[in-house]
Amino acid sequence: MNDFARELAGLPEATVRLLTLHVPDQHGRCRGCTTPGTGIPAARWPCVLHFYAAAAEEITRRRTVERGMR
Ligand SMILES: [Zn+2]
Repeated sequence: MNDFARELAGLPEATVRLLTLHVPDQHGRCRGCTTPGTGIPAARWPCVLHFYAAAAEEITRRRTVERGMR
């Protein structure tokens, strides 16, 4: 797991926002990664940001389990 994912794990709101924005459209492209100025999805999904956000969510989940929160 890299540092960016760990940073994100400390920012649950940003993580949720990324996961909400970076979803696939009907062509398998990321809705969050658009070509600037056009609003047209550019990156293939799952994109890098979705990848890191998902990794951050996984880190958060593990931390929560380790803390014994329920
Ligand atoms: Zn994206």
